Amino acid sequence: MTNILIIGAGVVGISTAYELSKIKKNNIYIIEKNKNIGLENSSKNSEVIHSGVYYKRNSLKNKLCIEGKKLIYKFCKKYKIKHKKIGKIFVAQNKDEENYLKKIKSNAIFNKVRDVKILNKKDVRRIEPNLICSKGLFSPSSGIFDSSKFIKTLYQLCIKNRVKFIFNVKNVKFKKKKNKFEININNLNIDFIINCAGMNSISIAKKTFPNSFFPKDNFVKGVYFKTKQKLGLNKIIYKSMIPGIVKERIDITPTIDGNYIFGPNVQISKKINKKKLKIVFFNEIIKYLPNLKFNEIYYYKVGYRPKIFNSIKNKNEDFYIKKMPKYNWINLFGIESPGLTSCLSIAKFVKKLVKT
Ligand SMILES: Cc1cc2nc3c(=O)[nH]c(=O)nc-3n(C[C@H](O)[C@H](O)[C@H](O)COP(=O)(O)OP(=O)(O)OC[C@H]3O[C@@H](n4cnc5c(N)ncnc54)[C@H](O)[C@@H]3O)c2cc1C
Repeated sequence: MTNILIIGAGVVGISTAYELSKIKKNNIYIIEKNKNIGLENSSKNSEVIHSGVYYKRNSLKNKLCIEGKKLIYKFCKKYKIKHKKIGKIFVAQNKDEENYLKKIKSNAIFNKVRDVKILNKKDVRRIEPNLICSKGLFSPSSGIFDSSKFIKTLYQLCIKNRVKFIFNVKNVKFKKKKNKFEININNLNIDFIINCAGMNSISIAKKTFPNSFFPKDNFVKGVYFKTKQKLGLNKIIYKSMIPGIVKERIDITPTIDGNYIFGPNVQISKKINKKKLKIVFFNEIIKYLPNLKFNEIYYYKVGYRPKIFNSIKNKNEDFYIKKMPKYNWINLFGIESPGLTSCLSIAKFVKKLVKT
């Protein structure tokens, strides 16, 4: 038997556990610092199944998002998890933004997402009569889903496949023993470790391998507001953007239970002033959705994008999924959006690294 330990029971850790548990000779453990699964970023996101139109060409994000999207839709159908392939409209309100739409389109086509379509004002109005824009770009394969049911289903499948979950794990330490690891929890001897600890992944790797070089953390908060107002919107609405560059903008996403969430923003200041932020969000949204009422929106939640720096100035916008050269240890860093969409394909990618 091969003893494999996964650190972190977020959506990526659980997907990886499930994928590896399909191989009979694997004995899988997951350790989690919280008392339950998916309590960190895996439950603090937009629950959007991204289509993969605007990620950098040839990036891991792009490849795994497109593969992951197909796997998630298939999984949701198979296990009867609520999901809706409602599509996403990117909206432009001036010539610059209209040019960005063209860039997104050519990026999408390069990435083999060929179903995208530029819409003129009338086309957009026909689909979303309440939106104000000069042009739009429609990406029909984006969707929304019940990610909480999705994670629970993965958990149940793991249990069925005899994955052992150990919760409330604090201060775990890993002792290297030749090519294996000894950990201070249940005296486990482990053949392979997969570090899916989200925001703690880099610090865990650094502690275990103090002489190795790792990227640096660069967490970026994202705040959401929510409304129960009937906005009459059917699609996910994003502002037009330059592909590969995440900038401040407020998106609107219908939720699977019939409400809407706004955000996430790019929250630079440490303290969140909800009153001020509500005004900022409102003013931004009414530019393209004027029927929104100020009193109908309220603060909802905050998530942390686990962004990374390769060096002091060099931002890395891609997923980092690599095996340590001499050890049976895989690190997953920078698993920000589209990490939820990509979780099932990330798991398959990790499975290949375990084998090689
Ligand atoms: C604001 C925001 C919006 C997003 N929207 C979307 C979206 O719409 N669509 C999409 O595809 N993606 C989205 N994402 C990305 C997605 O949420 C993440 O990529 C995904 O949840 C990452 O999952 P994870 O398992 O790697 O991380 P996490 O969910 O953070 O899980 C890591 C787990 O490791 C555990 N852990 C940490 N340290 C230790 C330790 N020392 N010992 C044991 N356990 C430990 C944590 O408790 C946690 O449970 C969004 C992200 C953010 C921040």
